[in-house]
Amino acid sequence: MTANRVLKNRDTNWMADAACRGMNPNIFFWGAPKWSVSHTGADRTQAKAICAKCPVRSECLDYALDNNIGDGTWGGVDEGDRASLRRRRMRDARVSAGGTR
Ligand code: SF4
Repeated sequence: MTANRVLKNRDTNWMADAACRGMNPNIFFWGAPKWSVSHTGADRTQAKAICAKCPVRSECLDYALDNNIGDGTWGGVDEGDRASLRRRRMRDARVSAGGTR
């Protein structure tokens, strides 16, 4: 049995302009996938430096947040910081809907 991921945001046209296009994905992913080598803080710094110059940074981050992607650096934001952003988005959505924080 395979687990099919249902993507909320399927637009990937922005990937054609990605600064990381053609680069080794191990720069951006660490730890979880079998094909990934273990990564250090220096790798995260390298990934974030590349993302900082990327013209599609916001599209990349939105894609990762919309699709609840847990691994790697997307839009210059790593897993832990994306989890915080995701919680903030959910809280803001609840407040906008008339709920409480
Ligand atoms: S923001 Fe970073 S991970 Fe996203 S497309 Fe650009 S370089 Fe790649």
